[in-house]
Amino acid sequence: MKFYSTRNKNLEETLSYSILNGLAPDGGLFMPEKFLSLDLSQCRTFAEIAFEASSKFVDGDIDDEELKNICNEAFNFPIPIVEIAKNTFVMELFHGPTMAFKDFGARFMARMVSALKDDPAQRTTVIVATSGDTGGAVASGFHGVRGIDVVLLYPKGKVSPLQEKQLTTWGDNITAIEVEGSFDDCQRMVKESFHDQTVKENLNLTAANSINIARLIPQMLYYLHAVKELGSKELIFSVPSGNFGNLTAGVFAKRLGMPLKKFIASTNINDAVPRYLESGAFEPKPSVKTISNAMDVGEASNFERLMDLYGNSLEDIQKDVTGYSFNDELTALRMKQLYEEKDYLIDPHGAVGLLGAEKYREEQSDSESPIVVLGTAHPAKFNEVVEDHLGFSPEIPHRLSVLTDKKKNSIPCSNDFKEFKEILLGKRR
Ligand SMILES: *Cc1c(COP(=O)(O)O)cnc(C)c1O
Repeated sequence: MKFYSTRNKNLEETLSYSILNGLAPDGGLFMPEKFLSLDLSQCRTFAEIAFEASSKFVDGDIDDEELKNICNEAFNFPIPIVEIAKNTFVMELFHGPTMAFKDFGARFMARMVSALKDDPAQRTTVIVATSGDTGGAVASGFHGVRGIDVVLLYPKGKVSPLQEKQLTTWGDNITAIEVEGSFDDCQRMVKESFHDQTVKENLNLTAANSINIARLIPQMLYYLHAVKELGSKELIFSVPSGNFGNLTAGVFAKRLGMPLKKFIASTNINDAVPRYLESGAFEPKPSVKTISNAMDVGEASNFERLMDLYGNSLEDIQKDVTGYSFNDELTALRMKQLYEEKDYLIDPHGAVGLLGAEKYREEQSDSESPIVVLGTAHPAKFNEVVEDHLGFSPEIPHRLSVLTDKKKNSIPCSNDFKEFKEILLGKRR
């Protein structure tokens, strides 16, 4: 299978190149040259769905047995779908090691990178900017993987204390960089690294942000899982969104043949995409801090992919995708109500998704269609938000509580690329 650049359809590369480099040489994002049609009728388990669907993109570049192993190992945790109100479901994607859905992408990508590297002795540097959850999942996925160094950048003071522990307590092949700046600064510095000549000469760099196609492939799988679990009716998915990797992966699943009624792009007040869906004008703004911090993204990096998928047609994208945004006040209130009424604790990102689902129902006067809200993180990861707005401390699962006693280890850095580059090149660690 070949992958082309969103900026030039004639620029095609292999799966291996796409994954090991992250970005296309012209700065575009990789897209599969075609979507083969998918038949899941023989699949029973999630790992079987995972193999069938991902093989449509791998298409011979990794042999079937190895891909089956990758799927079995990467997705070794449950994906419950909980009906929280009639026809409204939360698909809990947070039962992996770091308790956020990012585990799907990171665990699959780590195994793909290992499988595709032709020279195991050669070192690869995986670089990632994180607004909270990605970095932890990538660190967990790649920790101890031979031949790979991970460098992760996070905005100082803008991730939760637990998330910070998940970023900074690994050691070994994982280096955490605490950036005096915003997530967008972190993302910009990652992009600059790929354009920098000295960096290119010294390191084999790949990006583990959702710009990497290896992150998107596994994120299609749970949409397919939901269709299978709930019967193959057309579903509506409400996707709490920031960089729009998750929603883009949903569109990939649709292109493989998944029946779909609608995607709802639910965001916090970082709402450039919902505004685009409303007006046709994409006007990204600097990101603003919210209680759903993993979605504090000013300029969604996967917007470019969405535009490519829908041929830049507002009309076409509107057929599949509706967008809404919600402020912190509404988000916290919905968390509180849901907990009081249904005894279900949802995290702030999931709450934004739920608000989107409910607004859609109201606007469409549709109480019947099943809507699946993607539950992207475990609420205990946002215990401060729960404490502030619901007035109690959620029970912290063991997987997270063991981190509180571990020592934070990070390298401070300004938002100046030159300074970051020195750290990246190992001149200051
Ligand atoms: C990353 C993240 C999101 C947003 O996903 P995108 O693919 O960036 O749109 C939503 N919720 C949580 C908890 C996340 O970690």
